[in-house]
Amino acid sequence: MGASRCPTSLQRGNELSFSSVLICVHLCQKSFVTSVKVLILGAGVAGVASAYYFWRDGHEVTVLERNEAVALETSFANGGQLSYSYVAPLASPSVIPKIPPWLLRRDAPLRFSPELDIEQWRWCLEFLAACNAKTADITTERLLRLSFYSRDLMHELVSTEAIEFEYVRNGKLVVHTERESFESARRLMAFQASLGCEQSALDARETVALEPALEAMAPRIAGAIYTPSEDAGDCWKFCNELKRLMTTRSNPVAYRFGVEVERHLAAQGRLLGVETSAGVFEADAYVLALGTHAPTLMAPLGVRLPIYPLKGYSLSLPIADERGAPRISVTDYRRKVVYARIGGELRVAGMADLSGRQCHIDVERVEQLVDEVKAAFPQASDFRELHPWCGMRPATPRGTPILGRTRYANLWLNVGHGALGFTLALATGRVVADIAAGREPRVPLEGFTLH
Ligand SMILES: Cc1cc2nc3c(=O)[nH]c(=O)nc-3n(C[C@H](O)[C@H](O)[C@H](O)COP(=O)(O)OP(=O)(O)OC[C@H]3O[C@@H](n4cnc5c(N)ncnc54)[C@H](O)[C@@H]3O)c2cc1C
Repeated sequence: MGASRCPTSLQRGNELSFSSVLICVHLCQKSFVTSVKVLILGAGVAGVASAYYFWRDGHEVTVLERNEAVALETSFANGGQLSYSYVAPLASPSVIPKIPPWLLRRDAPLRFSPELDIEQWRWCLEFLAACNAKTADITTERLLRLSFYSRDLMHELVSTEAIEFEYVRNGKLVVHTERESFESARRLMAFQASLGCEQSALDARETVALEPALEAMAPRIAGAIYTPSEDAGDCWKFCNELKRLMTTRSNPVAYRFGVEVERHLAAQGRLLGVETSAGVFEADAYVLALGTHAPTLMAPLGVRLPIYPLKGYSLSLPIADERGAPRISVTDYRRKVVYARIGGELRVAGMADLSGRQCHIDVERVEQLVDEVKAAFPQASDFRELHPWCGMRPATPRGTPILGRTRYANLWLNVGHGALGFTLALATGRVVADIAAGREPRVPLEGFTLH
């Protein structure tokens, strides 16, 4: 049975706190199957991964999602990169001189359209405040710890479960077309080596020898950084496969689709339930994983989440010529476009538009992305089918997700993954399940919590 549904009245919450129940269960060395009820709010990759680890701990898990299936919003057609070594935040000193030209050019990788929205301006100011070397280095270090943990969990998952999501361990090439940016990438590589990244710097000839599909780009290549340990896959399939595991085994997770969460019902420092389009749902513990919609639900509780949507685009192009499409994932550093092979398609993703909250496709942006692919991999596709998509990255100014406790004892956060949700989802899901259970998380939470 999932979380209890009580449309007309709200029953009294559990007397025992969530952690004390778990500690008690742990001390008794009993199975967790009879333990606590957990409600996961949101079925994107963050919510699904959280549900997976709470389920693996033996809890009674229910997931509430307003759409009719998992991963239909930002986790649907993202870049597909499991980019464990490329977590450096957008907020860095090098971004400052690029901002004026980006503001002036319609085809800039980052676009800003001012809105009458105080949160947009607050986000921008906090972003600018984070654009200094010290903050960027600390953030990179923290994110690397989290992403390496995520990589370990992914490798454990794919070696223990038969799940099919076009997963490949294909490595990544970050291609630089400007000498200056290549030199600074080499410096970053040295910094990251001290944190455990294994990477190498290649000249243009070595780059094309490693990935022959880059032939057309060769005259523009100043150099590339190669990271053999990067993976790729289809995030939508990944979420569906995790859901399959959770719903076809014992103590199955209950997925309640078409349910819009409208309001948290809180009293005396605890959540008593959530009011939804399908009545009130109650549980012992709640995990908020609502992507860009999280701030709206938290604001009435007096909690501000510094998350703003950063719109991005993708194309999924059927591959026409095997040799024309890269096997290694490729990032065009200057244009901020990523390319990954997802099954028989080339997934191309890019653009970061700070342009309000409407998730509408801007045809001009799609055309720009098509032009990028035609210039980089002209033989990869016949460009008759594009499958354009846009999604809203739940971005925080510093680029770090917000995890863990809130001022409400039984409400936990797993939000704000920005451009790294697929990459970080397993680690953040595991960490939230651990801290909710009173266990020490494997990765220090400093920099990832609200306060
Ligand atoms: C163009 C693009 C490319 C990207 N490429 C990559 C990549 O290569 N690698 C990578 O790691 N990351 C990538 N990302 C980032 C990644 O996609 C996101 O970080 C991730 O999908 C966020 O997951 P989420 O679960 O937090 O949010 P979402 O996937 O948006 O999930 C939130 C869920 O909550 C539901 N919801 C919201 N409000 C309510 C409500 N009131 N009631 C009920 N349900 C609700 C939504 O319907 C949704 O299903 C990319 C993003 C974009 C846009």
